[in-house]
Amino acid sequence: MQIKKAIGFILRKTDIGEGNVMIDAFLKDLQDLTYSKYKLKIFGILKSKKRNPIVVEIGNYISVDFYYKENSEIHNVKEINLIERFYDIKKDYENFYHFSKIIQITNLMTRFEKDLKEIYELLYYASFFIQNYLENSKQELKSLLESMEVSFWDLIFLFYMVRLLNISGYVGDVEKCSSCGQKIQEKAKWQESMYFLCEQCDLTANRNDFFYKEIILLILKNKFINFVYKLKEFLVKQKNIEMSEFLERMMNKMNLITSDLLERPIKLFSD
Ligand SMILES: [Zn+2]
Repeated sequence: MQIKKAIGFILRKTDIGEGNVMIDAFLKDLQDLTYSKYKLKIFGILKSKKRNPIVVEIGNYISVDFYYKENSEIHNVKEINLIERFYDIKKDYENFYHFSKIIQITNLMTRFEKDLKEIYELLYYASFFIQNYLENSKQELKSLLESMEVSFWDLIFLFYMVRLLNISGYVGDVEKCSSCGQKIQEKAKWQESMYFLCEQCDLTANRNDFFYKEIILLILKNKFINFVYKLKEFLVKQKNIEMSEFLERMMNKMNLITSDLLERPIKLFSD
């Protein structure tokens, strides 16, 4: 048995009775610098007089020392400490709801004990970015979103999902038709999952799906704030498009794809 020292996120928490808690923790190992998910058991945290149970909240960024047992599914925690609670996100119910959705989808899309560096970094940068935005330190982005009349969370979620699916290998080369390999121009057909067909390969190819494809490309090629700027430019150029309605339809499509990939509906706050 070895002691692992790590930092990372709590993606799931289950109260297992007698003050004990089980968590799914998405961790960066500070010794060998691998990024994996572990099931950890914390004894007595909910009954403790010395330790604050806030430390095991979902979404928390923590440091943890645990006894790593090879071939064991569950490892026992030696010590756990809170680094960041993301209180600026959690103090508002609606923000916490959206943040939980990101945490939960990340949990569903990751498996235990695989190296998951890119997804870890996505979650890390997204969480701190959201926290800073809500803390009011991103005025420029706030005014930009207001001018577009779209919600911050819709765009964050869209961006996060596309990046997450891309890292997980679910996004094809969206510039090319997934059947004939030709570059897609003007019209496209959004397939199941994250693939697109050209007009020659699918007669129902249309402008809307082509625009969705363009937006996915913007997400894959830009940092979030640049994506928002370019999205605005892009949508302003397309006449007869009602921005928020268009994005809402794209969000619904993304939700369907995610549920399909996970082979079950995304249930929020279920355990
Ligand atoms: Zn084609």
